Amino acid sequence: MSGEFDGLVAIVTGGASGIGAAIVDRFRAGGAEAVVFDLNTENVPDGVFAVRVDIADTDSVNAGIQAVAERFGRIDIVVNNAGVGAQGTIETNDDAEWQRVLNINVLGLVRVSRAALPWLRKSPAAAIVNTASIAVTAGLPERALYGASKGAVYSLTLQMAADHLREGIRVNCVNPGTANTPWVQRLLDSAPDPVAERAALEARQPHLRLVQPEEVAAAVAYLASPLAGSTTGTALAVDGGMDGLRLRPT
Ligand code: NAD
Repeated sequence: MSGEFDGLVAIVTGGASGIGAAIVDRFRAGGAEAVVFDLNTENVPDGVFAVRVDIADTDSVNAGIQAVAERFGRIDIVVNNAGVGAQGTIETNDDAEWQRVLNINVLGLVRVSRAALPWLRKSPAAAIVNTASIAVTAGLPERALYGASKGAVYSLTLQMAADHLREGIRVNCVNPGTANTPWVQRLLDSAPDPVAERAALEARQPHLRLVQPEEVAAAVAYLASPLAGSTTGTALAVDGGMDGLRLRPT
């Protein structure tokens, strides 16, 4: 069977859960060797090369890239998807919390991309796709740190697209709305009535449901594929229309 990613090696950070796991499935369906970089590699499907990598640590990232290079001898696609949430205002999140979250959500992307660049330069189909968020453009209460981290992911997408344009490396991002993942389920489970909380959350979305991880994965796959060869420096919203229709969370 031939697919659009046949022969290509795609690294997905945070590929053990939620959106990242759906991206791994989508790449594999398209013929790629999908590689997971994650803190937790226990739930990764058989046949997927998984490396325990902490994107908050440069040595760990460099060792992970080295392991992929030794195993496959190439890296074609990097999806910087791993990230953590943060709730609070600029008053309630202290400096240590800012440094912790930015170190993962922003510097993690920088570390993985930097280490992969020498390999991407050799690829005929090089692409980086970053997972940003609806929080890039929506002003959400209690999301100062998270929104700032994802705003940086969006800006880095543009800057990296410019820096590596002539090297044939495309850089794009996806901006998902609230998605049906273990992350969101953990937040719902912390509410007194998780079922009612889920219904209320769904009702706040423009299309009255959560975004499915597979929908984000399809957008990532498009941006990573050779068919998006004329697309770089863009953000693709997967949010039920919130950004495109200038809606605001209620
Ligand atoms: P998730 O918690 O289900 O999965 C995240 C994965 O990242 C986990 O497997 C976790 O182990 C891994 N990870 C966390 N820190 C890491 C680190 N330091 N090194 C390596 N791996 C690490 O989350 P998700 O909902 O699938 O979110 C994935 C991405 O999508 C995140 O960047 C998140 O900000 C973004 N996003 C999520 C939503 C949503 O509603 N779920 C919306 C917009 C954007």
